[in-house]
Amino acid sequence: MKPIYLDHAATTPVHPAVSATYIKLLESVFGNPSSIHSFGREARKWLDDARKIVAQSIQAESSEIIFTSGGTEADNIAIFGTVAAMKNRGNHIITTTIEHHAVLNPCKQLESQGYEVTYLPVNENGEIRAEQVKDALTDKTILVSIMYGNNEVGTIQPIREIGQLLQNHQAIFHTDAVQAYGLVKLDVNDLGVDLLSVSAHKLNGPKGVGFLYQRKGLNTSPLLFGGEQERKRRAGTENVPGIVAFAEAVTLAQQTMQENSVNYEKYATILTETFTKQAIAYEVNAKSEDKLPHIVNLSFPGTDIESLLVNLDMAGIAVSSGSACTAGSLDPSHVLTAMYGEDSPKLRNSVRFSFGLGLDEISIKEAAEQTAAIIKRLVK
Ligand code: PMP
Repeated sequence: MKPIYLDHAATTPVHPAVSATYIKLLESVFGNPSSIHSFGREARKWLDDARKIVAQSIQAESSEIIFTSGGTEADNIAIFGTVAAMKNRGNHIITTTIEHHAVLNPCKQLESQGYEVTYLPVNENGEIRAEQVKDALTDKTILVSIMYGNNEVGTIQPIREIGQLLQNHQAIFHTDAVQAYGLVKLDVNDLGVDLLSVSAHKLNGPKGVGFLYQRKGLNTSPLLFGGEQERKRRAGTENVPGIVAFAEAVTLAQQTMQENSVNYEKYATILTETFTKQAIAYEVNAKSEDKLPHIVNLSFPGTDIESLLVNLDMAGIAVSSGSACTAGSLDPSHVLTAMYGEDSPKLRNSVRFSFGLGLDEISIKEAAEQTAAIIKRLVK
C-alpha cells in the first residue's frame, strides 16, 4: 500500500511549484540583497516581491514583515523582543496553557528572570474566553500572547475580541498563527493584533523560513545583532531562495484555501463515518464549531496510543499523538491535559489526523479502514 501521510499539522510536503522556484533561485540568484551592484539588486528585487506577497496575504504593509527562520524564531522575537522593549512599563505577561512550546518555553524562561506570567486555563474544547484576558489584565501587563489556532486539536481562539479589548491597553498583542495561516483568512487589522507569527513549512513551503508581522511603529528589541538586514530588526543575510519559495507557497495557499477547506470537511466526515460503520468507539477532542479545517483529533477509548501509532506506521499511515512537537515524544499532551485534567484516559488514547496536499477521498477511506482494523485487533 502507498503510504498515507496524515500529519500535515506537523509539517507538509513541499509543493512541486515551490521546489521548482526554490531550485531556480538557488541556481540563478546568488547575490546578497544588501549589495548595491546588479547581483545584489536582483536578489533584493526577488526579496521585495516576496515580502509584498506575504504582506498582502494578511493585509499588512511590506515594512511590517520580518523574515525569520520559522515559527519558533518569530514567536521568540515577539516575546523576548517585546518584553525587552517594554521593560520599564511592567513585568506581566498573559498567555494560555495550550500554546506551542515556542511560546510556553520563552515564557518559562522569562519567569526565571522575574517576570510574572498568567497561563489562562481552557475549557474542555480548548477554548479561552476574551473575558479571561480582561480579568487577568493589570497595569503591569506588557504582552498578551494567544495562539490563533491550536496545532493539536484545532481550536480557534477569540483573537478579534481580545484585540478589541486590548485596544486601549498598553499591552502588546501577539498571536501565533503558525498553524492557521494558509488555511483560514487572516487580516491583522480586523484581528487587532500587533504581532503575528507564521511558518512556511506548514503550507507546503520550505523548512527554516517564516515571518513575524510587526505593526508599524511598534518597537521590539532584536534577538540577533549584526548587519542591518530586515530593517535593523533581525540581522543576517536573508534566506532568499527559501523566502521566494515561501511566497510561492503563499500564493498557492490563497488560491486553494476555500477548496481545501471543503475537502478537509469531507475527509473528516469520511473518517468518522468509517469508524461508526466499523463499530469503532471514538470521541472528538475539541468539539467547537469554529476550528481549523485540517485537524481532527479523536480519542479511541480502550486503545493504547503507543501500540496504535506503531501499528499505523507499519501499515504506512502517518499520524500523530499528543505533543507532536517534542521530538519522538509520547509524553502526554499538555493541550489535552489542560482540556481534560491529567487523569483523563484521553491523554493516552488520542490521535491527531491532519490533512493536506496529496490526499483524496480514496486515501482517507483507506486510512480509516486500516485504522479501524488495527483498533479492532488491539482492543480484542
Ligand atoms: N507554533 C505552532 C502553533 C506550531 O504548530 C509550530 C510548528 N509545530 C511552531 C510554532 C513552530 O514553528 P517552526 O517549526 O517553523 O519553528
